[in-house]
Amino acid sequence: MKLLPLSFEFFPTKTPEGAAKLRAVRQQLYAFEPEFCSVTFGAGGSTQEGTFAAVAEIQAEGVPAASHLSCIGATRARVREHLVQLQAMGVKRLVALRGDLPSGYGAGGEFHYASDLVAFVRAEMGDAFHIEVAAYPEVHPQAKSPESDLQAFAQKVKAGANSAITQYFFNSDAYFRFVDDACALGADVPVVPGIMPILGSSQLLRFSDACGAEIPRWIRLRLQAFGDDTASIQSFGLDVVTDLCDQLLSAGAPALHFYTMNQSAGVGEIIRRLQDR
Ligand code: FAD
Repeated sequence: MKLLPLSFEFFPTKTPEGAAKLRAVRQQLYAFEPEFCSVTFGAGGSTQEGTFAAVAEIQAEGVPAASHLSCIGATRARVREHLVQLQAMGVKRLVALRGDLPSGYGAGGEFHYASDLVAFVRAEMGDAFHIEVAAYPEVHPQAKSPESDLQAFAQKVKAGANSAITQYFFNSDAYFRFVDDACALGADVPVVPGIMPILGSSQLLRFSDACGAEIPRWIRLRLQAFGDDTASIQSFGLDVVTDLCDQLLSAGAPALHFYTMNQSAGVGEIIRRLQDR
């Protein structure tokens, strides 16, 4: 079996039943020997305990865990507490983010951008953590311009990020262009494509608009034409996403980071198909 360089992302669950289901999902995906598994972190406090609980479980299962950590709305003292706690748990990898505050929260806080968090982690903890940051091949939705977004990415690398994970995309040209442009600015860390399996249509279309990921017209139209036919959507999605992953790896992407949506079937099938190619 061909071993692929992979990582998996999960979000924290809210109930004991959810946690048990997620444990089973993780066990299925561990068969692919991921380099690490990461757990998202809600800005503004919504899921932070759940994040650390899931991170602790992954570590206890013998797989390196990465904790996402967002800084918007947070104080330095609070972030310091999180870092100390994660270090005590044996965590060696962070995904350092600005985050988005839920609506209703004022801006506040002592950090403005993810680059501030990266610099803070390096100043406080030295090299205790491998720091991943977010990258946006199709441009972050709040960026003033594509150029300023690239500069912001380079700033995160300059502040001490070791590598990056991208927002998901379905257009590999945007990814390779981003990697080249970032390199030209001196930000030549590994940039791992974030891969979103297509498990359904309406949620993906809604979510993509909000996070600035473009669904190419031909994919959008095909998905809309399938209507409620979930089996056809998933079968089409498996073909499209497997081809995308294949293109990315063949053209030199360093690894694949899967947004699992806490489900194993779609991601597992994509990986099995890639292994057989
Ligand atoms: P930044 O890199 O700080 O960028 C945010 C915006 O500010 C961009 O538009 C950028 O161009 C601009 N900017 C940056 N620096 C400057 C500057 N110096 N001057 C002017 N403009 C600047 N969200 C969560 O809440 N929890 C998670 O766990 C989570 N995980 C994620 C994982 C990945 C791999 C990705 C890609 C995203 C994740 N997100 C998560 C979403 C992320 O928090 C949002 O996209 C957020 O809006 C931006 O976070 P960032 O770290 O990219 O911010």
